[in-house]
Amino acid sequence: MAYDENNIFARILRGEIPCKKVYEDDFALAFHDINPQAPVHVLVIPKGPYVSMADFTAHAPEELVVGFMRAVGKTADELGLVEPGYRTLANAGEHAHQEVPHLHIHIFGGKPLGPMLIKGWEGTI
Ligand code: AMP
Repeated sequence: MAYDENNIFARILRGEIPCKKVYEDDFALAFHDINPQAPVHVLVIPKGPYVSMADFTAHAPEELVVGFMRAVGKTADELGLVEPGYRTLANAGEHAHQEVPHLHIHIFGGKPLGPMLIKGWEGTI
C-alpha cells in the first residue's frame, strides 16, 4: 500500500491537527488515543512515512527503527505502566482492522487487560 501523506497521523505530525501529547523525540510522537479502549490508551507513531510494521522495518533507516522502539519503551515508562504492566499492539491491514495507514503502536494499560485475543476463535470465522 502506498503511503497517504494526508492520513490523520501525518497531519498530526505536521501540526495540522492537535493531539494530547505524551512524549516526543526526534524519532517518535506519542499521544492519547481519541477513543480510548482502556484507562490508558496511547499511540506511538514514527516520524516518517511508513504504513505498517513490515513497511517500516524494511524501509526505515536503522537509527529510526531503533529510536522508535526506544520511544515506545520510554512512553510506557513515563506513563508509569512498567510495574503494573501494559500491552502493546500494532494493527496492519484488513484482517487486523487497521484504520489509520501510518504505523502506530497502541499502548494499553491502567487495569488488568484480560486475554490477548478472544478464545474460541475457531468458531467465529
Ligand atoms: P487502528 O485501528 O490500529 O488503525 O487504530 C487507529 C486508532 O487511531 C484508533 O484507536 C482511533 O481511536 C485512533 N485515532 C483516530 N484519529 C485520532 C486522532 N485524531 N487522535 C488520536 N487518536 C486517533
